[in-house]
Parts: sequence; C-alpha cells; structure tokens
Amino acid sequence: MTYKWWTMQRHGGQLILIVLTLVLMGVMRSLIVDVADGSDGETAVSTNTNETADNDEADSLANDPSEPSTHTEELPVIKDTSFSPALNPYTFQPKLPEHSFQTYTVQRGDTPNKIAERFGIQPETLLGGNPFLSEESNLLQSNAELIILPVDGLLHDVAPGDTLEEVAAQYGVSEEEIIAYVPNNLEFPFRLQPETQILVPGAVREVFVWEPPALATVNSNTSGGIRPVVQGTGTFVWPIVSRVFTQFFWYGHRAIDVAAPEGAATVASDTGTVTFAGWNVYGYGNLIVVNHGNGFETFYAHLSGINVIPGQVVIQGQYIGATGNTGNSSGPHIHFEVRWNRNQDDPCFYISC
Ligand SMILES: [Zn+2]
Repeated sequence: MTYKWWTMQRHGGQLILIVLTLVLMGVMRSLIVDVADGSDGETAVSTNTNETADNDEADSLANDPSEPSTHTEELPVIKDTSFSPALNPYTFQPKLPEHSFQTYTVQRGDTPNKIAERFGIQPETLLGGNPFLSEESNLLQSNAELIILPVDGLLHDVAPGDTLEEVAAQYGVSEEEIIAYVPNNLEFPFRLQPETQILVPGAVREVFVWEPPALATVNSNTSGGIRPVVQGTGTFVWPIVSRVFTQFFWYGHRAIDVAAPEGAATVASDTGTVTFAGWNVYGYGNLIVVNHGNGFETFYAHLSGINVIPGQVVIQGQYIGATGNTGNSSGPHIHFEVRWNRNQDDPCFYISC
C-alpha cells in the first residue's frame, strides 16, 4: 500500500512535468511563428533568446545585403558571448559599492602621523586607502593626493571569485563588520562584484618585511678558524653627514630616509658583522646589513657603492659604502633601518634626529 502510493506520487510528479514541458514548448513555438510572420527568422530568434542590445547588431547583420541570410533563418545566432557566464539581467545583480572618499593633498612638512591625526584615523589607515605609500619610491611628497578613508580599515580590490567569507578571513575581521559599512552596498546574498573596491573596517594592510640572513649563517660561510664574537657597543652613530630628512619612521616606512649627494660616505653605525652586502630585489637596491651581535641590526640602502663583503667585521664609524639612488628610490638618499630582535624600530630612538 505504502509502496504503491509512493510510486503513484513519483510517476504522477513526472507526468505533470512532462505535461508542463509540452505546454511550454507549444507556447514558445507559437511565439516564434508570430514574430517570424512579421519579419525574418533571425530577428525572431534573438527576440526570444534574450532581449538585449544585441538585437541591433543582429538586425544590422540580417539587413546587410552582403550577408547571405538564407541559412540563418531557422538557426539561433551563436555569438562569442552566447555561452559566457555573463550576469543574466533577470537574475540577482548586486548593487555596486558607493564610496565617496575625502582626498587630501600633501603639504610641505606633512608626516603620515600628522595627516592621520588631522583626520582622526590611524596612520596605518593611510596605507589602507593608498597602498603605494609603502613603496620606497612613492614617498609622501608635497602635492601627492591621498585617499582618506572615513573609518579605520583598508580598501580591498575585489578579484573574480572573491567571496565575503574569504575577504573577512583574510583580514581577520567579521563578515558582519564589512556588511555593516553601508557604502559597501552589500545585501543578501552578499556577493562581491569583481573590479570594485570594498572597505574592510578594522583591517590593517600588512607591509612586507624582508629578513636578512642570520648571523650564524654568515659566520659558518667564512673559513679561517674560530671567529671572535663581535659585539656592538650598543650606541649608534650617524651613518652619513647629512641631516636632510625626506621621510621619517611610520607604519608604512619603518626607517628614516636622509637625502645625501650621490657618493657621500656611509659609515657603520656600530661595530658588527656584515650579513648582507649586494643587490636586494625587494626595493632596497644596493644594500648593506650589519648584525651587531647584540640583537641589533642596521640597514644602509640605495647605495651606489659597497666596500664590504658578507662576513666582514666592521668597526663603528668605519667607511662601508657610498650613498646613491638605486632600487625603489626617488632621488639620492640613504634609507637607514635599525632592527632590534628583528623588529624595525624608529632609528631616531638611537641616533638623535
Ligand atoms: Zn626609506
């Protein structure tokens, strides 16, 4: 009894589907005939498949006397876009984000921290709206125009396939926080539209930090018996004579930039062992790194000349190279970093700026 009832239900359902399909086919067929009566077959087909702007194209093609139209009468027009996964205008179409950002033109003497303070945002949010700021060659120069985000966070460029869940996870924020930011215009089912930008509140854009070779690696490379442990004095001297700052330490630039004429003498800020001396592909250009054996490392970047080799011991104040304009650099200057246990500190803590 139960089994019979089940099969009846099952086949009954299929029967209804078949009947519906037949009715639908009948309706479509009569539609095609109706329109085809008034004009040629090609227009009829395109009208039935999709009422888009492509109709004009199809019409002009059909009216083109050079185009033989006899073979196309009963056939659908196959175009490049026919099978593309383009959004169907009759299915869900997300609203696009509607951001309106304030911009700020950098004035002479501005620092990222000052600008952030003026707009009540964190300095890292300047990077959130202007990723180029973390590049050495794009210093915060006068007349540069910055996007000022209204809340702390960052702008995410939506790539094809990005989902809200993935974006939230990538920046360690909740999906709700992204949805709650009204100008993102996200509504159920919260699909992201590629080639737009959404603001991710509370997210911080990470800055890539290159790590120099460890001291142990460099020491083992050098032959000649036991190397005495060289330890810095723990005090630091200025690596160059100039004091013309072009960029101070901030979240997007954890170093100081000091302008200096090409070829100016660069000295070791403290005693230590050279762990890197050569071309660095991560924007530093010609770079020297000195490990001071006490947790400190100093970086001297964009050099035009290098006078030391990895493994070499240098004494505080010793000439190590010449300033230059190599790598991501926008004018002759030295980029000087002080790292303490691999963390980039403000060099001005150690040398008076
Ligand atoms: Zn720099």
